[in-house]
Amino acid sequence: MTKAQEFKQQSEQTAFDTALHHKLQNSIGQYQHKHLRGREQFADLELAKTRASGLKQKVIENLDKYLIEFESNYIKNGGKLIWALNAEEALKEIEIILQKHNINCAVKSKSMISEEIHLNEFLKAKNIDCPETDLGEFIQQEAGERPFHIVTPAMHKSKEEIAELYKQKFGTPAQASPEEITKFTREYLRKKFYLADIGITGANFLIADAGAIAITENEGNATLSVSMPRIHIAIAGIEKIIPSLNDLDLFWPLLATYGTGQKLTAYNSVIFGPRQSHEVDGPTDMYLILLDNGRTNILEQPEQRRALNCIRCGACLNVCPVYTTIGGHAYGTTYSGPIGKVITPLMKGLKEYQHLSSASSLCGKCTEVCPVKIDLHNLLLHNRKEAIQQGLQPKAEKVTWYFWKSAMLSRKKMNKGSAKVKNFMLQTFFKKTWGEHRDLPVVAEKSFNQLMRERTGNR
Ligand code: SF4
Repeated sequence: MTKAQEFKQQSEQTAFDTALHHKLQNSIGQYQHKHLRGREQFADLELAKTRASGLKQKVIENLDKYLIEFESNYIKNGGKLIWALNAEEALKEIEIILQKHNINCAVKSKSMISEEIHLNEFLKAKNIDCPETDLGEFIQQEAGERPFHIVTPAMHKSKEEIAELYKQKFGTPAQASPEEITKFTREYLRKKFYLADIGITGANFLIADAGAIAITENEGNATLSVSMPRIHIAIAGIEKIIPSLNDLDLFWPLLATYGTGQKLTAYNSVIFGPRQSHEVDGPTDMYLILLDNGRTNILEQPEQRRALNCIRCGACLNVCPVYTTIGGHAYGTTYSGPIGKVITPLMKGLKEYQHLSSASSLCGKCTEVCPVKIDLHNLLLHNRKEAIQQGLQPKAEKVTWYFWKSAMLSRKKMNKGSAKVKNFMLQTFFKKTWGEHRDLPVVAEKSFNQLMRERTGNR
């Protein structure tokens, strides 16, 4: 099955799952409510968004310079930097670190880039115990599922479903409350933190002038993953750079407000490298893996490169009519929703993933909410244009558009054939595409044009 066929099949299943929609509406409704309150902290939100967008754009346009500045400062702080071209290289480097330090136990905090390189599967295959330590990610890991959303990974699960999962996995009561589940998870993971030799995290921002990484979170698990084990590995995409430590003043509140609706997340850490000689705790070694994995493919396209401004807040997913209808898993990719539909075809190839850019109503709501002002709906159109220019459009689609266009440009052709014949054609050729759950539109006995001609007597 092609990726496009898988996507259609998955979407068809979830698009009519009313129980799923109910859970999503509930979760996103709560987010929207909090988000409105979070916005109030900005005296001039538009200005904050414009500044953030401008700063990110400046970085992306001069990424080579900022990366070198970051590298030099990070190494001065005592960190070890590893450049990885793709997922294979990143995993190979992680394996070398694990062997060098004789690691058996690890802990990991939420990071979409680790999903991108399939780190959990890799570590499992190497017999390394590595639990997720973010509650939502832990639930997903125990359920054997990928994150459903880039910020709230288990948003599609009800509290009853989670209680049932915990009962099966850990023997907790079937009616366990969210508080009991959280308490159990905290105690379970606390032991893992004590045992872990290595802590793996992502990075929300790479700060060029400080050579430091910034991590923002709500559970304190990333802070523990960084500070308790003797080794720290951080993985980040090359686009995560911001120019200066001072810029966190802008980016942290923006990310919190658009990510979870908070004014600021509960824990915000800036990590300047491994433990220094005068410090009493922290890892003895810190490795940072800077990953390309298709990001330079985006960078080389002047129009689409602004997609790299993304700070992964997830706000565009929450307002997207497609995402909220089909859900995150249907995409079959690490990044879902509008941003996923823009960057996945560019990172992984238009040939296999161009269908994602077409799965949009182009309503523009994603563009409207984006805190770094990425015009996502235009970028989707760019991807579509690119796919057509490269001749990647499926044959059936090409033929359909050819006939549609020639009919639309000719009244004579449109009037050809009775309504009966047209309805027969629709039922024969489009029933499957239209899906089982909807009725095909019915062509009226007489077209508007015919009715007008009859009424006015014009030929
Ligand atoms: S594209 Fe914009 S709205 Fe979507 S995740 Fe990225 S920063 Fe957030």
